[in-house]
Parts: sequence; C-alpha cells; structure tokens
Amino acid sequence: MPDFQLGLEYAKLLDQNDTLSEYRSKFYMPKDSEGNELIYLCGNSLGLQPKSTQKYIEQELKDWANLGVEGHTEAKNPWLPYHEVLTKSMADLVGAQPIEVVVMNTLTANLHFMMVSFYQPTKKRYKILIESDAFPSDKYAVESQLRHHGFDDKEGLILWEPRKGEEILRYEDLEQILEEQGEKIALIMIGGVNYYTGQYFDLKRITSLGHKHGCMVGFDCAHGAGNVILDLHDSNADFAVWCTYKYMNSGPGSLSGCFVHERHAYSNNLNRFTGWWSHNKQTRFNMRHEFDVLPGAEGWQLSNPPILSMAAIKASLDIFHEVGIEELVEKSKSLTGYFEFLLKQLGEDVIRIITPENPEERGCQLSIQVKNANKELHTKLTEAGVISDWREPDVIRCAPVPLYNSYQDVYEMVKRLKTILNG
Ligand SMILES: *Cc1c(COP(=O)(O)O)cnc(C)c1O
Repeated sequence: MPDFQLGLEYAKLLDQNDTLSEYRSKFYMPKDSEGNELIYLCGNSLGLQPKSTQKYIEQELKDWANLGVEGHTEAKNPWLPYHEVLTKSMADLVGAQPIEVVVMNTLTANLHFMMVSFYQPTKKRYKILIESDAFPSDKYAVESQLRHHGFDDKEGLILWEPRKGEEILRYEDLEQILEEQGEKIALIMIGGVNYYTGQYFDLKRITSLGHKHGCMVGFDCAHGAGNVILDLHDSNADFAVWCTYKYMNSGPGSLSGCFVHERHAYSNNLNRFTGWWSHNKQTRFNMRHEFDVLPGAEGWQLSNPPILSMAAIKASLDIFHEVGIEELVEKSKSLTGYFEFLLKQLGEDVIRIITPENPEERGCQLSIQVKNANKELHTKLTEAGVISDWREPDVIRCAPVPLYNSYQDVYEMVKRLKTILNG
C-alpha cells in the first residue's frame, strides 16, 4: 500500500496518475435536480449505465423491426446463439472455462436450479450450511429447499457465525462445525463476497474443507463478479451464481451468470430441471426428439433468453474485456485503500470499518459502522449528494467502483461525512 496523503490536491494528483480515469466518462453519472453530479458509491447495489449500452440494445431493436423471426439466424448478432457470444468474456471475468459458464435466468432462480442438482439430501445428510449474515434472498431460498425436501428449515440450517463482538467470519470456526456435523451437511452455500461486511472468502479453502467432509459446495458471487478476481475453476466449487446488475453494470434486474464445474459437465446422474434450451442444439427444433442434454453449464438452460438484456450484458463485458479485471482490481485496491486511509482520520472512536483490513480479503466495498448513528445520518448524506447504502442498525456501505469512481469522489464523500458528523 502506498503512503497516502491528506488534502484535495493529493486526490487530484491520484486521479491524474490513474491510467483508468478515462473510463469514468464512458458512464452516465447520476445528477441532482440542479444538474450537479452526485457522489455515487452504490455500484454494489446497482452499477451505472455505460453510455455504449443504448447502441447495443438499439441494434437488437433494429434487427427485430427489420427481420422479425428471421433475426434468430439473420440478425447482426444472431439471437439463437446470442448467449454464446457472452460466454468467453464472462468465463474470463470469473476465472472459468467456457464450458463451465452460461448466462441465463435471474440470480435467485439460478440458485434454486443449482440446488435441484447439487442439493440432493438423504435422511442422514440433509443439512445446509450458510454464513449467518447471508443475503436474505439466499437464506429464503435455502430454507425453502429444506422445506421442499420435507425437512425442518430451522433444524436443517446451520449458520457459520462470527464470534461475539466480531463481524468477520473465521475459518477455524467453519472447520469446527464441519468436524462436528460434517457428515450431516449436504450443501455449503456461501456468498463469495459477503454483501454486508464485504468479506471476500477464500473459495478454494472453503471448497476443499467441504469436499473433505463429503459436502457439495456452491457460492453466490453477486458481490464478487466484476469486483474481485474469482478463479472459480481453480476454487473447485461445484457451482456458483451471480447477477450482472451490481458490479457488472448491465441494468436493473438483468440476467444472472451461472458456473458449473467442468467435472460435472458430462454428468448424467445429476438431477436437474430442463427445458428446450438445455437440449442438443442440432436437434432442438425438430421438437420431437427424446431429450438430449447439452454438456456443460449450457445444459442447465431452460428458455430462450431475453436478447435485450443480453445486449446490455454484452456492452458491459466488452468494457471489462478492454480494461482487464487484473488492472481493475489493482486500481480498486488503491482506491479503497485511500478511502480507508481517509476514513481512519475521522477517529476510531467515531467510526469503525467492519470490512477486513487485508486487501486480499475484500473487494472495493467498505462497511462503515458509525457510533451512535441512526438512519438520519444516511438521509443527511443523501441530501449532501452522496449515494450510499444504509443497513440497520448503524452501517453505511460504500463501494468506490474502479471503473467509474475517482479519488476525488472518495475525498468528497469523507469530507461531507465529516461535516455532517461535526454538525
Ligand atoms: C443482490 C443479491 C441477490 C438478489 O437476487 P435477485 O434474484 O437478483 O433479485 C441475491 N443474493 C445475493 C448474495 C445478492 O447480493
């Protein structure tokens, strides 16, 4: 970590020396009612719109207008294999082989489809382990899977909890749970980067622990994709899912990415839900053939996908491909390190950062606990033009996104927070 300095001039200097600074102008920055740019630190919730996205969507609207159904084969980017255009760059972004990745459905839906295959409980081995502060949708999803298979959703759910007075989860505690109850656990399902604390877990370590005890292991990487280097293939996880509207800037409610490890690519004994899009492409339109599943992650598709949403994903992936995730993460570590440095100046009696200090154990998000704060603080920050995310009882989550946030954004945020706290 470089030694950072205080002051606006230094923030400006960091921006001048930032080789990725030009990318900010490739995104629409939200503005207040007077036309001033807001300090947008909410890319962990909804990423900003690339200016290029409109062009990608317009191409598909034009082809639909001019070609109708023929667009499936005759469009500039034919719709039938459209998802394949996304596969390679999506696989690169999450560190996977192309056969392991597909873009389909939405996130929680994919989580369920993955559990159809990778949560196959028996009387003896039926429990599911998640982190105690899992994203609510994930918790609801695993609870409903337990009930679906006839188990009690409290008895069947094991929580990996932080120790008293701590927020960050410890691997020793996970090891202990597995030593004690490993043979009862069918599935370990963890948020790759925890949405609340920003802790980036060691996916490989968790997977290897889980596999040692005979459990399936999957990750929800909604807060990881486009934010950290994931190495999904090498992690050896059985499956992973993520959304594309947070760090991947593909628009509200856009489609999800799904990873199924290569070793399952040709597996015929996995239970799964299927549709015509999981069927062999050569005979799909004969419509009569007996079901013949596609190998790899593609074999989990059900429906022909929404092309307009995929066009927005293509626009975003082209930017990631151009920049490279390694370069982005390098800037991210510097930008978030600078943010942490400035926040610490406010004094540890006023704020406490609950995100891990080690840059390898976090992405760009910092979760800031503010002493004696309530929701009013968040309201004031918003009025001061800072868009952040509030979590009860006292945590502000801010994500300086290396693609479009600047060092000056971070400087301004801390300055305005300080003014409010002193007010
Ligand atoms: C954002 C997020 C979701 C949201 O799920 P959708 O199905 O896209 O609405 C679920 N899980 C995690 C971990 C998330 O971060």
